[in-house]
Amino acid sequence: MIEIPATVKLRLDGDALVSNWQTLDRMSGSASAGAAIKANAYGLGSIEVLQRLQAAGCRDFYVANWQEARELEGQLEGDSCISVLNGVRADDMPFAIVSAAKPVLNSMEQVHRWKNTSLPCDVMINSGMNRLGINRGDIEQYDWNGLDIDIAMSHLASADEDVPQNASQLQEFIDVLEYTPGKRRSLSNSAGIALGSSYHFDCTRPGLSLYGGKQRTELEKIIQQVVFPETQILQVRDLSIGDKLGYNAKYTAKRAHPIAILAMGYADGYLRGFSNEGVFLSGNTKLPVLGRVSMDLIAIDISDASHLEESDWVTAEYDLPIASDQSGLSQYELITGLGQRYDRYWV
Ligand SMILES: *Cc1c(COP(=O)(O)O)cnc(C)c1O
Repeated sequence: MIEIPATVKLRLDGDALVSNWQTLDRMSGSASAGAAIKANAYGLGSIEVLQRLQAAGCRDFYVANWQEARELEGQLEGDSCISVLNGVRADDMPFAIVSAAKPVLNSMEQVHRWKNTSLPCDVMINSGMNRLGINRGDIEQYDWNGLDIDIAMSHLASADEDVPQNASQLQEFIDVLEYTPGKRRSLSNSAGIALGSSYHFDCTRPGLSLYGGKQRTELEKIIQQVVFPETQILQVRDLSIGDKLGYNAKYTAKRAHPIAILAMGYADGYLRGFSNEGVFLSGNTKLPVLGRVSMDLIAIDISDASHLEESDWVTAEYDLPIASDQSGLSQYELITGLGQRYDRYWV
């Protein structure tokens, strides 16, 4: 087959990924950092992320469902393990009992379903987020003997903010742990790690910050960008004063200047919120997005890089807090939404 080079690429920095995990592991103190690699490692590619972090020493991996677990379990080495955060449905049981992964039991229904297998599991305690997890009353009443519980965990709802909910979830978790015979205890996601040692327990579960997300100021200087969306220029043209650009003419030139049309659009996860707000980079030169982002095309101002021409590559400014401000999207949405058209390559 004749190869057709991609028009959009994701440059993924493997050293930055490993450095971020090491930073989060160090910040976790005596606790060991795992890695949330659900949703294809937030869009980066879960097999590559698992391999790189496992080689760096990471042992606990978290996915959302059993399809994700099946794709990855062949990669596990030594004492590494995969936890399935969304638990185990009746429909999952045939695969779950032969899988190397373990479920996070989120409800008493799931506990009853798993109990007879005598296989390892984790247990999710509801400490106040009221998403998945078993309530305190059910935990206290149940006889947990006979279940092989590895991690007793809970999840913080607002770790990216300084709000009283963090301390109250911490206290609730500590109280309920008395009744939950897990070998290990875990509470914190990326932002939770930055809340301090009382939130660390035995293992932490960072996701977003592995991939460059910085949701607390403590993380801002020490977490590195991992994901760099790149695209090619399809055409350059010169606008004259008064020329309108793109759908619904959301940009009108106030001076004559050159623009470039890029082979990327909202179908690549570069959503409409970047219209007239986003920035691309050629080297260190900033090239503002002009007008509305189309499905497969974006226009940028190349006044400051007028040497650019068809087939040159530019990179989206995608430092996650900055891109979040530009677009109004969350840092999570920005990376999980990047889509299938990218040629993902690691450097
Ligand atoms: C996704 C997830 C994480 C990772 O959270 P980040 O905010 O991405 O660090 C940890 N624990 C649970 C239960 C999750 O669902």
